[in-house]
This record gives sequence, C-alpha cells and structure tokens, in this order.
Amino acid sequence: MKHLIILLSTVLSLFTACAQNTEKEESSQQYKVEKSEEEWKDQLTDIEYDVLRNEGTEPAFSGKYVEWKKSGTFTCKACGNALFESDTKFKSGTGWPSFYDYIEGNVLEKPDNSYGWNRTEVECAKCGSHLGHVFEDGPKPTGLRYCINSVSLGFKAKK
Ligand SMILES: [Zn+2]
Repeated sequence: MKHLIILLSTVLSLFTACAQNTEKEESSQQYKVEKSEEEWKDQLTDIEYDVLRNEGTEPAFSGKYVEWKKSGTFTCKACGNALFESDTKFKSGTGWPSFYDYIEGNVLEKPDNSYGWNRTEVECAKCGSHLGHVFEDGPKPTGLRYCINSVSLGFKAKK
C-alpha cells in the first residue's frame, strides 16, 4: 500500500510538471522582435499603440492609406516588416485599406472570437502586432479581403 501511494504521488507530480511546461510554451510565442509594453508605448503614438498592441480599430475612412494609390510596399508600423505590395491593394469601399494578398511568410492569421464574432485576425509575423482582419469576400485571384488599419502601416515608395 505504501509503495502504491509513493508511486501515485510520483506519477501525479510528473503530470503537474508536464502541465506547467505546456502552459509556459503556449504563453510565450516567439517573435523575432519582442519589446516590453513600456518600449512599445514610447515608440508608438496613442492610436498606433491601441491598434497594434491592443487590437483596436481605427475609425472607418479616417486612415491615411484608404485612398492611397502610390506604388510601393506597405510595412509594419511597429517593426518595419514588409507586409503588402501596393499592386494587391484594391478599393473595397469599407473605409479601411484593403488587400487581396500579403507578402509570403510575413503575416500570420489567427482565430479571433472576440465580441462573439468568428473572425480571423491578421498580425505581423515578425513582432506579433495587430494589423486587422481577413474576410472571404475579396476579389480574384485569392477571393480574400485583408482589411487593415492605416495606423498599423508604414509605406516605402518604389524607386
Ligand atoms: Zn511588425
């Protein structure tokens, strides 16, 4: 009986150890660029911080890039990662800059069930900053609409 109890408590403590490890791994997703909340606040304006780091949304038709027609590359406002090419931008009429595709490997998609909606969040693959959402009502060839906040973006003109 005594042996059984020792065996049981050993098994139990092993289980607890495993559970703790898994939790740790899940909570610390690895991004190439990681900063503390204070560092982000110093670097970004209030609205940039609210959208990029707090998953906020800028008011429709308020953003700099809604009607933007220049040729070049849209980058992450937080870390400079190249995200969208201007030739994938299209006029969606939604009030936010919209793209039908992103630059391969530089954007991550994540399920977002906040506010009771089943949406897919779009974030920068390099720093994890929030960019916007993706919807399945976009134009060809992808049929996708990446609905992105202007304040999440920077722009590099084509030379
Ligand atoms: Zn980034």
